[in-house]
Amino acid sequence: MGNIVNFRVINNRMQFRCPKCGAKRNFPVQGNIRKKNMRCHKCGKIIKCVLNRRIAPRQLQSGIATMITNEGKEISVNIHDISADGIGIDIPITIARARTIKTGQKVRFNCKWNPRLLGSGYFMVINNSGQRIGVKKVATFSL
Ligand SMILES: [Zn+2]
Repeated sequence: MGNIVNFRVINNRMQFRCPKCGAKRNFPVQGNIRKKNMRCHKCGKIIKCVLNRRIAPRQLQSGIATMITNEGKEISVNIHDISADGIGIDIPITIARARTIKTGQKVRFNCKWNPRLLGSGYFMVINNSGQRIGVKKVATFSL
C-alpha cells in the first residue's frame, strides 16, 4: 500500500502536488486515464495518483457571456466569480473606459454554454471599479 492521492484534472492537465515535498507541476494527461503512478520530479517519490475530472464549481462559473444592457447594447464579458453576494464580471477595457456601465444600472445575460447559470432575469450593477464590475440578481417583478 503506497500513498494514493487524488488530483484534479483541469483542461486535460493534472494538477500534481507531491505529498512528500510539496513540489507542484502540471502534467498533460490523456482523456481516459483514471489512475497513474507518478514520480515526483523533485524528490523522486512515487505516488499513486487518482485523477479527478469533476469540474470544480469555480471552473464551471468562469466563462464568457453576453451582457445586455437596458438599452439593448450587447457586451461580451468574462464571468469571474459567483457568490452569494453577487457576480464578479470583467468587462472589456473599452467599455470600462467609456464608462458605459454605471452602478444601479440593470443588465441581463446570455450565457450560451450554460443558459441556466445566470437565467434570463435582471441583475443590478452594485459596484463598478474599472474592468471589474459586480452585479446582483434583482427580483423579476421589482420596479
Ligand atoms: Zn516530491
